[in-house]
Amino acid sequence: MPLTELIINGFKSFADETTIHFSKGITGIVGPNGSGKSNITEAIRWVMGEASAKSLRGSNMKDVIFAGSDTRPPLNRASVTLVFDNSDHGLSMDSEQVAVSRRILRAGESEYLINNQQVRLKDVRALFLDSGISQNSLAIISQGRVDQILNSRPEERRVIFEEAAGVLHFKEQKHEAELELERTNDNLIRINDLVKELS
Ligand code: ATP
Repeated sequence: MPLTELIINGFKSFADETTIHFSKGITGIVGPNGSGKSNITEAIRWVMGEASAKSLRGSNMKDVIFAGSDTRPPLNRASVTLVFDNSDHGLSMDSEQVAVSRRILRAGESEYLINNQQVRLKDVRALFLDSGISQNSLAIISQGRVDQILNSRPEERRVIFEEAAGVLHFKEQKHEAELELERTNDNLIRINDLVKELS
């Protein structure tokens, strides 16, 4: 499921809608310092559900919205869309093409869409985790990450393999089931207390 297009609008230095087409093979992005190369990989991680503003070099998630320049006023919204060629059904959806978008307004929360249908962050994460990638995966290696991986502890490195093997998704599901079990147990305790009071 190759990534074929990245559409950025109002995200960081990309004030105007910009479409980057990725053809087969390797795509190189070159440009002077500060021209926005890292902003491109950050845009990809952002759509995939990146929740840490710090890891996107900001202090608040709204910092990803174009903040204005000498010649242009700031914008009030940002959106990024990733378009995948899904003819191999690497993403577990029937459609031959999958577009995943994230939007943010200065005034509000992020919104996620898969093929123009509004979804939850959880659905976006599940879509990517099922295919063995996530915003932290080795599908995206930013500056400094190679050193970080080589110097990481074995337990940290294990997470990388777990993700590639698709285990991480099941771990998340297990964690959710455990939380649900805890909530149910709490409810049972409360019901038992009520029964005792009433009998
Ligand atoms: P280098 O080669 O030095 O690593 P780069 O090409 O990767 O640079 P980026 O770090 O992607 O460049 O881009 C930095 C630029 O993005 C800076 O000019 C910065 O002012 C601009 N920028 C970051 N956030 C915003 C924002 N919210 N609004 C407007 N511009 C922004």
